[in-house]
Amino acid sequence: MSTLKGKIAVVTGGNSGIGYATAKKLTEDGATVIITGRSAERVQKAASELNITGIVADVSDLSAIDNLVEQVKNQFGNIDILFVNAGIFSPAPIGQISEEMFDNQMGINFKGAVFTVEKFIPILNDEASIINLSSINAYTGMPNTAIYAASKAALNSYTRTAATELAPRKIRINAVNPGPVETPIFEKTGMPEDQLKEFAQAIKNRIPLGRFGKPEDIANLVAFLASDIASFITGGEYNIDGGTNINPLLS
Ligand code: NAD
Repeated sequence: MSTLKGKIAVVTGGNSGIGYATAKKLTEDGATVIITGRSAERVQKAASELNITGIVADVSDLSAIDNLVEQVKNQFGNIDILFVNAGIFSPAPIGQISEEMFDNQMGINFKGAVFTVEKFIPILNDEASIINLSSINAYTGMPNTAIYAASKAALNSYTRTAATELAPRKIRINAVNPGPVETPIFEKTGMPEDQLKEFAQAIKNRIPLGRFGKPEDIANLVAFLASDIASFITGGEYNIDGGTNINPLLS
């Protein structure tokens, strides 16, 4: 398929997990893709594997986003697709939420996402598509995820308002809410391996379709929302979670 032929796409956090799979899919569909990430080594490795451009930019640093936009503008001009994907997951129970953990998660998942959109607006083509990677955690009340969930709920709220304000330029903006997806995000919490395995099994037991999502599952939805086939879709939120949000008491 070449549904994205001629389009320029930026994927934040594109060196790993969902971002990497989406960068691959958008490239396969014909787009010219630029990925970003925090670590120069990992960004370069992923970019060379995918044969695309990689730019280092930490979304928690607004001046780094300014530099990113400047570099993209100079090398590629205006863009058509912005996949706001960079994010972190730091679980902690209520009563043990530190200021640092709050600031990190809100700073990357919400503030970083908002200012990625804000700063790319001047170089978005009319009819561009923005996809914000949120989570079903925005709604589920899962233990230990209060701040992560709040960061994603805030992002979904921003997405709705942005959809009405960007509509005059025919720029579409949607949120994607994945359920559990097999990516390195869980290892990065620092949880010991046996605890991680137990956690993964407990989650799996609650997924009606009986498996974790694959990064490619999310990539397919993002590629659809990015394409002109989705030209009447804006301000939407799409759960992609194997039925997790149905949250059955019995299965
Ligand atoms: P991942 O850890 O594999 O990828 C996260 C990416 O974000 C990496 O490329 C990382 O470099 C980048 N990143 C993190 N902080 C950054 C920063 N400050 N600046 C720039 N880049 C930064 O994890 P993933 O699961 O692919 O996560 C991608 C997105 O999906 C996140 O927003 C996450 O919240 C969301 N999500 C994941 C799941 C899941 O189960 N894996 C479920 C729902 C939502």
